[in-house]
Amino acid sequence: MPGLVRVILLALLIWLIIRLYQRFKALGQQRRSASKKQSARPIENMVRCEQCGTHVPEKEALEQDGHYYCSRAHLPRHR
Ligand SMILES: [Zn+2]
Repeated sequence: MPGLVRVILLALLIWLIIRLYQRFKALGQQRRSASKKQSARPIENMVRCEQCGTHVPEKEALEQDGHYYCSRAHLPRHR
């Protein structure tokens, strides 16, 4: 009888370890996918300068008549 109890206890312990391991693994995957999303967020929409072809973030680019320019110097002076 005590031998059977030991087997049950051992099986319970193994089951608990497996459950904990699976939970830990799932948590790690969640964290990894979350950090992936965060790293993907800073990639902004890039626009191309009409004058020199340089790619600049849309926020930093200068827009004129629907066209983007990297700097003030590349803005067409006459329209
Ligand atoms: Zn330019």
